[in-house]
Amino acid sequence: MYNYTAPAGALHDKVILVTGAGDGIGRCAALTYASYGATVILLGKTVKKLEAVYDEIIAAGGAEPAIIPLDLKGATASHYKDMATTISSEFGKLDGVLHNAGLLGVLSPFEHINLASWHDIMQINVTGAMLMTQALLPVLKQAPAASIIFTSSGVGRTGKAYWGPYAVSKFATEGLMQVMADEFAGSSIRVNCINPGATRTAMRAKAYPGEDPMRLKTPAELMWLYLYLMADASIDVNGQSLDAQPK
Ligand code: NDP
Repeated sequence: MYNYTAPAGALHDKVILVTGAGDGIGRCAALTYASYGATVILLGKTVKKLEAVYDEIIAAGGAEPAIIPLDLKGATASHYKDMATTISSEFGKLDGVLHNAGLLGVLSPFEHINLASWHDIMQINVTGAMLMTQALLPVLKQAPAASIIFTSSGVGRTGKAYWGPYAVSKFATEGLMQVMADEFAGSSIRVNCINPGATRTAMRAKAYPGEDPMRLKTPAELMWLYLYLMADASIDVNGQSLDAQPK
């Protein structure tokens, strides 16, 4: 599995939804999936960023993507149901979901955790991903083998001072993945987590403003794992939380 090299066309004929597809790791994953033959559904908050990714995919000769502008903060179950209905009528199936969108919030001592910020982080990082997955299940079941990938973090496995709601949301993400993986074991749906590790993005720069970003891996360097878990090579992998930067 480590340093998996996807063959050309590894995602041919697959329809893959990427959340937070406009920036950082999600942007890179969307471009990478498209370059391996997938039709990508780009979901995110800032439409301009999604349009730029759309243009890049078209310019590179990829299949025409779809764009779903959605702020996970305000999205409700009915938004996700509408989304699933659109995907079903446009594509008839969904082969993969990369739950990548995430909110860091403000790192602060436990005593200063703000309740509104706590709710926002839980809503975007956990509840939104759960509701979206629930709504998408019928269309995921239409695929011969569907892969759901959640995005975890090192602080979602070992708690760390000052990482408050973000860390708790990533523990919850790991738990959600495990519950779903156990429930869907033996079905056509597999569910796993990726921990990207320290990566050169805006979120990492916000968490570590004094750090030299050039010392960090780029999103492109993590793509072997994002490809592996989305491609049929991982068809028997379920319930795992894998590191994109293994020690
Ligand atoms: P970025 O902040 O660079 O990108 C986050 C993406 O999520 C953006 O496209 C953003 O959209 C989208 N997003 C944020 N809030 C919402 C919302 N309310 N509704 C819809 N989309 C939203 O983060 P990274 O690329 O660094 O992180 C990607 C994932 O990896 C996250 O889940 C993060 O927790 C995780 N991670 C990252 C690490 C790192 O070192 N970078 C380490 C460990 C985990 P927009 O740009 O429009 O706001």
